[in-house]
Amino acid sequence: MLTNSRTRHTRALVTGGAGFLGSHLIDRLIERGHEVICVDNLFTGDKRNVEHLRHEARFEFLRHDVCFPLYVEADVIYNLACPASPVHYQHDPVQTTKTSVLGAINMLGLAKRLKAPIFQASTSEVYGDPAVHPQVEEYWGNVNPIGIRSCYDEGKRCAETLFFDYHRQHGLDIKVARIFNTYGPRMNAGDGRVVSNFIVQALRGEDITIYGDGQQTRSFCYVDDLVAGFLSFMDAGPDIHGPINIGNPNEFTIRELAEKVLSKVGGSSRLIEQPLPQDDPMQRQPDITVARQQLGWQPKVELDEGLDRTIAYFRQAIAA
Ligand code: NAD
Ligand code: UDP
Ligand code: UDP
Repeated sequence: MLTNSRTRHTRALVTGGAGFLGSHLIDRLIERGHEVICVDNLFTGDKRNVEHLRHEARFEFLRHDVCFPLYVEADVIYNLACPASPVHYQHDPVQTTKTSVLGAINMLGLAKRLKAPIFQASTSEVYGDPAVHPQVEEYWGNVNPIGIRSCYDEGKRCAETLFFDYHRQHGLDIKVARIFNTYGPRMNAGDGRVVSNFIVQALRGEDITIYGDGQQTRSFCYVDDLVAGFLSFMDAGPDIHGPINIGNPNEFTIRELAEKVLSKVGGSSRLIEQPLPQDDPMQRQPDITVARQQLGWQPKVELDEGLDRTIAYFRQAIAA
């Protein structure tokens, strides 16, 4: 039976559910007793991320591209579908914008028909190369509309616009989270993002590729903390719509990250510099005051501990 009670949603739809974040979210939803429909076109996702749920009666996988309409029944929707690594979202930039924009329209249309709350995985990229540091939700950002990152940044910004217009125009219960750099087990070894790249390079004894001089910063959140933040947001009252920054405010230079990974993994890798990609943001750190106050949420896992867990995962994944 379907129910619309906020804390007892029985059926959740998770788009991008076979990806890194989506698969962890699904694990927590199943643990909470929900049914889950995982919708994914497997562009960057992998069925192996949800393989352990194959015999779980409350889990269902649906291969589908969110750029096309979807008619299913659910109590709550988590919209995560979109490649997140610059390498992948720049591979087919038109498809990236379509996924963000058409995907948002279709999932919002679905939420409207079902009168279901809907969560959007937005991103710190809406702040672009930020002139305000740390980034607060009120900051409108500094985004190049025509650069190589724009398909992702502007797609996500347009999705936020759609979410807030469906809220104002149609009264939808929206939850817009701005996610900052997150890492952990089930990142794809070939994903291209910095944490997985550095760990995989160190484990293979390859050169560790620092783009630019490595003085740019990022703030890294462990996946379990992030997913706890998603659930706190969805559990929060119907008056809380965001946007809310979800991330870990501890900021590191990329060179510091490389040195930390190398010292943990050991081995003979060298740190080498490669050209900095166009429009690569120079600094990024979330201000999470709103998440602390409105959701009672803050991250718990320090980078050292999260890296240890992630390195242990990749040791096995690479050996397999
Ligand atoms: P991921 O690439 O591992 O997962 C994305 C999933 O979406 C994949 O399974 C992919 O196959 C699927 N997908 C892509 N296009 C689709 C389409 N058209 N239809 C259906 N499925 C599609 O990335 P992730 O790190 O798990 O990111 C999940 C979400 O969180 C994304 O929306 C991303 O923008 C957002 N986000 C992630 C981070 C991060 O650091 N991980 C930071 C900011 C925002
Ligand atoms: N949609 C969907 N599933 C639904 C309802 C709608 O995929 O259950 C899609 C459909 O493609 C539609 C879009 O969501 O065009 C937006 O729906 P909305 O009701 O906002 O607008 P419409 O285009 O139907 O006027
Ligand atoms: N980066 C790097 N080496 C790599 C991959 C990424 O130095 O092998 C840098 C990248 O230039 C950026 C930061 O690490 O400054 C984070 O990159 P990522 O692709 O993980 O995410 P972004 O925050 O840029 O979307």
